[in-house]
Amino acid sequence: MTATIDTAVLTAWILRFRDVIAEKQEWLTELDSAVGDADHGANMAGGMQAAAEKAQEGGAATADELLKAVGMTLVSSVGGASGPLYGTFFLRMGMAAGAVSQLDASALAAALRAGLDGVVARGKAEPGDKTMFDSMAPAVDALEAALADGASIAEATEAAATAAGTGRDATVPLVARKGRSSYLGERSAGHLDPGAASTALLFDALAAAIADASR
Ligand code: ADP
Ligand code: MG
Repeated sequence: MTATIDTAVLTAWILRFRDVIAEKQEWLTELDSAVGDADHGANMAGGMQAAAEKAQEGGAATADELLKAVGMTLVSSVGGASGPLYGTFFLRMGMAAGAVSQLDASALAAALRAGLDGVVARGKAEPGDKTMFDSMAPAVDALEAALADGASIAEATEAAATAAGTGRDATVPLVARKGRSSYLGERSAGHLDPGAASTALLFDALAAAIADASR
């Protein structure tokens, strides 16, 4: 059971996210074709491919170097709203993590919280607006709650992934109030939010990378 995660685990997380986004690219595109402009799959796949290359080639020694490289690549390489939002998430996460090679559970939770706060600062999403926030916020809340209850990092990130999936599914009945899907008004109801779907994959990838490192 690992008590800290190092930059190798963070890199494994980024690579897994890249892989699962590539696997689910068509599904993300389908979701975005119902409520948006059908580019979320391509935006995320292209952005994460570039970000994963940066993460690997940099050989980053510290969490902030790695996460900032990922964030900056997403901000600069993705055209859609999701690029700056995920980019800000990783940039803020990196700033909060700092120039360290290991994160313990509370440092990881604080970094993820800072990433979430960055998404809110950038996009002004509120609960129930039918965005990635509706998956990300419950995930970070669940992670913190699990750690407060004495869970390990592996257990807490598993709880976060479960909460992210529940939050994603709860976007279906919502009417979008932010982003492109809000142009549809009431017609946005009845569809899963694409960004909430990719965010659930982000937390699945984190839990999987940490479970892998704990074995
Ligand atoms: P675009 O909407 O520019 O085509 P994408 O399709 O890649 O970009 O991403 C759409 C997703 O971005 C939405 O499903 C939603 O989750 C997220 N999103 C859009 N606007 C915001 C916002 N203001 N705050 C948080 N998330 C947002
Ligand atoms: Mg789109």
